[in-house]
Amino acid sequence: MNNYPQFEKLLEEAVDFHGHLCAGQVIGVRIAMLGLRELGIKDPRGLDRKKLIVFVEIDRCATDAIMIVTGCRVGRRNMKVIDNGKMAATFINIETGRAVRIVSLMNAREKAAARYPELDESTVQVQAYREMPDEDLFSVQEVSVVLSPEDLPGRPLRKAQCAVCGETVLDMRDVQQDGKTLCRTCATGKSFYTVQAPPRTPIA
Ligand SMILES: [Zn+2]
Ligand SMILES: [Zn+2]
Repeated sequence: MNNYPQFEKLLEEAVDFHGHLCAGQVIGVRIAMLGLRELGIKDPRGLDRKKLIVFVEIDRCATDAIMIVTGCRVGRRNMKVIDNGKMAATFINIETGRAVRIVSLMNAREKAAARYPELDESTVQVQAYREMPDEDLFSVQEVSVVLSPEDLPGRPLRKAQCAVCGETVLDMRDVQQDGKTLCRTCATGKSFYTVQAPPRTPIA
């Protein structure tokens, strides 16, 4: 791994933000540094801040570290969470179109354990993942990613109103059904919540 002082500084920032030092912070900082290096992006939080989009495939510890190192945020629309439950992240240089998908290797855990047989598992991981070379931790895949205009940073391309619930839908997430404009919830009848009572005014 190159640039050790930078790694330590970024890890410190990640731990500060995330709330604790864990294997996920070490892996997250390293996967992000590798992604940036692969794409030739040097200053993701400064001069290069409009060049990068990251897709992460898990909503666990490492994702926070990837946010810190890359400067990408869900709210800036340059970090997308596609929760496949995989420790993987795809880094896209939107200027060049180049994209790399980096996956955390399955056998890294055993390699880490072999380094420090005397320590407990989480201490081993934090320690060993700092030291192990990138090739023992990650695989890199050249990929291409189709980015739709409505998923990119910038002003919403459309603002619609659902004909059933009346709620506003941004960014072309509305659907046309039987000649009506609907939100996804009303169109599919599927939702993560179940309504228990009609809408009311907020508590005072
Ligand atoms: Zn953690
Ligand atoms: Zn609706």
